[in-house]
Amino acid sequence: MGNVFGPVPSRRLGNSLGINLTPLKTCNYACIYCQLGKTTNFTNQRKEYIKTEEIIKELKYAIENTELPIDYITFIGDGEPTLHSGLGEIIKWIKEQHKEKFKIAVVTNGFLMYDEKVREELKLADLILPSIDAPDEKKFKLINRPIENISYGKIIEGLKIFAKEYTGKIWIEIMLMKEINDSRKDIDKLAEIIGSINPLPERVYINTPVRPPVEKWVKIPSEEAIKYAQSVIPNAYSIAYREDGDFDVSRYTNSLDAILDITEKHPLRYDQAEKIINHFNDEKEKVFQELEKSIKIVEYDGYKYLLKKLKK
Ligand code: SF4
Repeated sequence: MGNVFGPVPSRRLGNSLGINLTPLKTCNYACIYCQLGKTTNFTNQRKEYIKTEEIIKELKYAIENTELPIDYITFIGDGEPTLHSGLGEIIKWIKEQHKEKFKIAVVTNGFLMYDEKVREELKLADLILPSIDAPDEKKFKLINRPIENISYGKIIEGLKIFAKEYTGKIWIEIMLMKEINDSRKDIDKLAEIIGSINPLPERVYINTPVRPPVEKWVKIPSEEAIKYAQSVIPNAYSIAYREDGDFDVSRYTNSLDAILDITEKHPLRYDQAEKIINHFNDEKEKVFQELEKSIKIVEYDGYKYLLKKLKK
């Protein structure tokens, strides 16, 4: 259980009901900015990491028991969703059961888009959010630290083929980081890569590491760099700010369960946790005492965050 979470407020997707398809942290990248911690299951193997029927069962329950409206059902979570071989089947199930009632989004690093089968499965969704963080091959290796010796050119080519064939929306996400990919030269190169995708992605989100990154030396870029990126990258929008919406806690009976469940899949700020405790009129001190067993508090960029402790 616990592979379907939320709806959580998302800066891009409104109220997003999240689906996690892998154990923590299963990925073909080890990005320097990852907010999930180190990649412990570094793999490019597609398989049924969690039983497809189990995910569908959880999803059914969540849809039937959620009070908040759902803007998107989003594949995102403890790793890279395209690594799950049942991705296409789950999207099909949602579409068959709920027709056009829910929009479906997949947040992906885009690595496997060179694989035709993965492209076919992704085409079933309404919105795909792939990442492009690197201006060139060298920075691709520095920033995303991919598993296999597949060239950056091949990854971009896969995305270009997908864009040509796909009828849904593509929103690219760029993680802009200080002194890593925020020089004018790097931003110009990123703009050139995006500009070569035909048709152009509907949106390009300029993100910054607003939540604690795995590598402590990763820093938020200057306002000037963000503005420059917005001015030269086609269809660029900045999401270099923190989300402020409320978490839907209607499925819980107390703040401890709600906070533990949310932090399983989503970093939670201290002030957001306090809001949840107040919502249930629980005793703050007692709740934090209990939380200490599995949660650590990390300070980053002037904010306190509750992060799940990794199991040893
Ligand atoms: S692709 Fe996503 S999950 Fe994988 S390492 Fe990068 S940020 Fe983390």
